[in-house]
Order: sequence, then structure tokens, then C-alpha cells
Amino acid sequence: MQYQGVLTKMQTEYQNPVQYYLVFENNFIHFNQLLGQNIAINFVGYQCLECGKKKKIFRQGFCYDCFMNSASAGDWIMKPELSTAHLDIEDRDLDYEKKVQLQPHIVYLALSSEVKVGVTRFTQVPTRWIDQGAVQAIPIVEVPNRYLAGITEVALKNHFSDKTNWQKMLKNEIPQVDLIKERFDIRYFLPEEVQEFFHPEKEDIYEIHYPVLHYPKKVMSLNLEKTHDFSGKLTGIKGQYLIFEDGTVFNVRSFEGYEVQLHF
Ligand SMILES: [Zn+2]
Repeated sequence: MQYQGVLTKMQTEYQNPVQYYLVFENNFIHFNQLLGQNIAINFVGYQCLECGKKKKIFRQGFCYDCFMNSASAGDWIMKPELSTAHLDIEDRDLDYEKKVQLQPHIVYLALSSEVKVGVTRFTQVPTRWIDQGAVQAIPIVEVPNRYLAGITEVALKNHFSDKTNWQKMLKNEIPQVDLIKERFDIRYFLPEEVQEFFHPEKEDIYEIHYPVLHYPKKVMSLNLEKTHDFSGKLTGIKGQYLIFEDGTVFNVRSFEGYEVQLHF
């Protein structure tokens, strides 16, 4: 079979194990069905996810101009504490920012390599955790806007990492941690404005299982910029990574906006 299309992050379904779909314009591939099979990935070109032009991708699937100008690439995306829509202050497009920022957000603890703290929109639960390759996650607070979530994350960053070690995540080197206890222990570090949203009695821990036949001992990342043609046997999918038998891992999300051909 041969497919050609522009990469976007894989769509997922929260099942045991997680189901992964790569969606192209006119068709999709159910990746779980390809476990154990040989897959070839060939780089064809670029297509910006915002303007659709065949320009080199700068970041997050956007060409340089779109990354610098698009409302969906403002600084508040990566740094939620910079959100200002709740004050009626525009960054790039106030209507868009109100729509995204002024909705329920979750601050969470997720266990992907070590325990990390993060922020996501309520509607992105548990998708966000699956995308990070977390094996467990737990909400800390649900707050009404992105700003409150952002200042909570900033306060908790002193106690937890806000990054995932992707090598450990892919090798499944994960410590034993009691997230319910961790959540209870951090109650004093929450900002004043957020205390009222903390209801720690809930047993709402998520367990996430991934379709992985066996975890690699060593990993090396496939970079389509340097290696235009790759082929290997698919042995697992975790987070947004395809894992191959030889230890090569391909982060689909890092190559959003890249047009590829796939053969299997
Ligand atoms: Zn563009």
C-alpha cells in the first residue's frame, strides 16, 4: 500500500491500548494495524498547515511568516501565564484568544518520564496526556481560564519538571510514583486565586496503555531533514512517536507540515 499526504499529529482514541490514526486529506491509516510490519517513510516536501504554501516549515507545522503572525502561534500557547484575554487585552487576535483562553483548563500531573506538571484545555483530556506518552495522569485543578492555569503551573514548576525526557519515556524507564499523594502534598503551593478550585478527594487517576510490542534499549531520533528515506519494522507507538525495531524513533508531531510518502 502507498499513501501520500501532509503529516499532522496522530489522532488518538483512549482505549486499552490507545488507538492511533494518521489522517491525510482524503484518507487515514490506522497505525495499530501496522505493528510488526515494515514501513517506509519518504520525504516529499513541505506544506505549511496555516497558509498551505509549499514553504519550509519553521515550527509547529507553520512556515516562518505564519509562525510569527498566526493567532494560533502566540507566546501564550507555550506560556499560558502570558494569557491576557480575560483582561480584554489582545495579543494577535482577541476573538480567537477569547475563544481558546476563556474556557475551562486543567492543570495536571503526568508521569511520562518523571512527574511533570502541565496545562491543557479541559476538552483535550486525555488526548494531551496520550500525546506526551504519559502512563498515568491526574488533574490537580480545573480553572475557568488559561491564565489561572498558567500561574498555577508556574507556581508548581519549582517542585516538578515541566518537560518530558523523551528518551526515558520511549525506553519506558519510569519511576514508581503515587500521583494521588503527590497531588495532596502540593496543596500549599497553589496560588491564592486557585485554592478554591482544589478538590483533592477525587480518585480520578488516568492509566494509559500504549501499543508497544517491546521497548527499545537505545533510541535515536529520525530527522527527515537529514534522512529523506527511512524504512524499518514498526514495533510500537507511544506519545506521538513511532518506534522501530532498530531503535529509530519518529516523532510525528515534530514533522507536522512535512509531506511524506508511506509504503507498507
Ligand atoms: Zn504559512
